[in-house]
Amino acid sequence: MFGLIGHLNSLEHAQAVAKALGYPEYADQGLDFWCSAPPQIVDTITVTSITGQKIEGRYVESCFLPEMLATRRIKAATRKILNAMAHAQKQGINITALGGFSSIIFENFNLQQITQVRNIKLKFEQFTTGNTHTAYIICQQVEQAAKQLGIELSKATVAVCGATGDIGSAVCRWLDARTDVTDLLLIARNQERLQSLQAELGRGKILGLAEALPQADIVVWVASMPKGVQIDPASLKQPCLLIDGGYPKNLAMKIQHPGVHVLNGGIVEHSLDIDWRIMKIANFMEAPARQLFACFAESMLLEFEKLYTNFSWGRNQITVEKMEQIGKVSLKHGFRPLLG
Ligand code: NDP
Repeated sequence: MFGLIGHLNSLEHAQAVAKALGYPEYADQGLDFWCSAPPQIVDTITVTSITGQKIEGRYVESCFLPEMLATRRIKAATRKILNAMAHAQKQGINITALGGFSSIIFENFNLQQITQVRNIKLKFEQFTTGNTHTAYIICQQVEQAAKQLGIELSKATVAVCGATGDIGSAVCRWLDARTDVTDLLLIARNQERLQSLQAELGRGKILGLAEALPQADIVVWVASMPKGVQIDPASLKQPCLLIDGGYPKNLAMKIQHPGVHVLNGGIVEHSLDIDWRIMKIANFMEAPARQLFACFAESMLLEFEKLYTNFSWGRNQITVEKMEQIGKVSLKHGFRPLLG
């Protein structure tokens, strides 16, 4: 059995989903209530591979909300993630993905130091961040969507916003090793980490967002921002491909501008309908029966392959080889990158 630890976009979103799922006691409550709410299993999932293999999973709602970080309720945020992990483990789940901010909180607040949650000794090897598959899918989106738009990678400049992050650095490694992109623009706030990424890659220009955007043919957004940014589409090249892999989204608005193409990044489409209701109720995707976050799909892939290991773990350790490995099983079981 696989598990997915998820959370909702905002307090308002959480209230609406709680109502629709049949938890009226959560629906009218404010942030303080959500800070103390325990994790819940809110869905039972069946996934069928194109090989015919069937697997079962559980969706664990952690009750974490991005507002907890924005209002510095750090203790509540970290408790949400650890409690959700302990809850997943108690259900006998073999491999669980830490979706969205869950893995970021785990890493940023050094939660690996906490191995005991009440009477549960956490087995970290039963969890994965899902970031290897996410990075692989974003790179496929770059390659395939660029082709569709007539952007030649050999003449293209790619900006990565969040370049020093776990997903961003993996995307940079892939673009460097597996494509012939002309230039990589590296964007983040911490200059030291940017310089060490630049040294590792042996290439790439470190630029601020405002400077980088007008130069980029493709922008990969993978910054862990609790709120999206506004950009002026008129300042972008045309055509320009924007792949927004952030959750919550890095772009705060819908961009409607001729020549600017926005793609929902890090999302896969399965070849067969998945039997679940959470995706429909939470309204995460346009086609919720088949579309999902690539990190969630990673735990499904590990369950299909009975690879009960923390395939993606720690920070900035994703290799091109591991991206290829998860990419192969992704195709084998019928997942493909979302392209439009
Ligand atoms: P990390 O925390 O490892 O990296 C975040 C990166 O963003 C760092 O480079 C950080 O650098 C940068 N960053 C943060 N804030 C800003 C800012 N205001 N401006 C510029 N750069 C910024 O995160 P992950 O790589 O694990 O995740 C990245 C995003 O992908 C998140 O939004 C996450 O929710 C999403 N995600 C999507 C998945 C999917 O399945 N589609 C799966 C998992 C994650 P610095 O702090 O120096 O600025």
